[in-house]
Amino acid sequence: MSDRRTRLFKGLDLAARLNAESRALAAGLKTPPVCLVLADRENAGARAYSDRQAATAAQAGIAMRIAAYAGTPSAIHAQIDAIAADPDIDAAAMLLPLPPGCDPVESALRLGQEKDVDGLHPLSAGRLAAGLPARPPATAMACLLCAQEIFGALRGLDVTIVGASRIVGRPLATLLLDAEATVTLCHVATRDLAAHTRQADLVVSAAGVPGLIGAGHLKAGAAVLDVAVTATPDGLRGDVDLAAVDGHAGLVSHVPDGVGPVTTACLFRNVVEAARARRRPAAQATRTAH
Ligand code: NAD
Repeated sequence: MSDRRTRLFKGLDLAARLNAESRALAAGLKTPPVCLVLADRENAGARAYSDRQAATAAQAGIAMRIAAYAGTPSAIHAQIDAIAADPDIDAAAMLLPLPPGCDPVESALRLGQEKDVDGLHPLSAGRLAAGLPARPPATAMACLLCAQEIFGALRGLDVTIVGASRIVGRPLATLLLDAEATVTLCHVATRDLAAHTRQADLVVSAAGVPGLIGAGHLKAGAAVLDVAVTATPDGLRGDVDLAAVDGHAGLVSHVPDGVGPVTTACLFRNVVEAARARRRPAAQATRTAH
């Protein structure tokens, strides 16, 4: 191990700046944006995450409510239909994991693109893929903003993403390509993960496998955004083996205070944008839709 210490990146300041921007935008509305968060309240991780979101929503000027998923898939579908039709709700976030029998994209379709702040509705995902102004999934957007905070411009940067899910890896690859980074996207079937990650100036890891990324996965001085948050008997863990990479990596993001607070701030921003779009006079909305 070298004498150089690895820098720990926390996203709290960036999140506070984003929340202040959201609060200023929300202040232009007659009443605060209303967001309903649906979560599996029996799942300790989802409960803790949704409680943390509700506690910080006021910082972004948002009125947030939490509800448990109704029991069966058909009851949950009816619950989502009711949220879609409720004029007093501007936006809804459906925390993963969804109960068995419910698909995140099908659920977003039921909710409608207007109120879907997870960016999973095919219109949102399609707009992002097509290079049109879009509402990207909050985690992907948070990774982009953290990368820009660390590196400034991303043009020409070699970035390897570990994890190709629809809420993190895939939308993040699109956002990074739009920022002119060179992107490699890995997943569970990637044959030689270390060969791909060792090429990168920045590794973004979102696999949910504690200890997956060690010193042999990184070139010296590389930065790692550790997106994963896995509950273990020893507490919350990311994908990075911190002891192994200390002194070798240039920077590693803190778990859970690295990408996590920025993700929440990006979700809040999506809520404020959803409320502004919904409450815009119909004539103006028609003029700007094209
Ligand atoms: P997911 O299960 O949908 O996707 C995991 C991805 O990782 C898949 O593409 C899979 O192929 C890949 N993968 C799994 N094992 C791998 C391995 N050994 N090598 C290479 N790739 C592997 O998960 P998700 O919903 O994308 O979430 C990923 C992680 O990020 C979870 O730990 C989750 O808790 C966390 N998360 C954090 C935030 C945040 O703001 N920090 C937000 C959302 C999710």
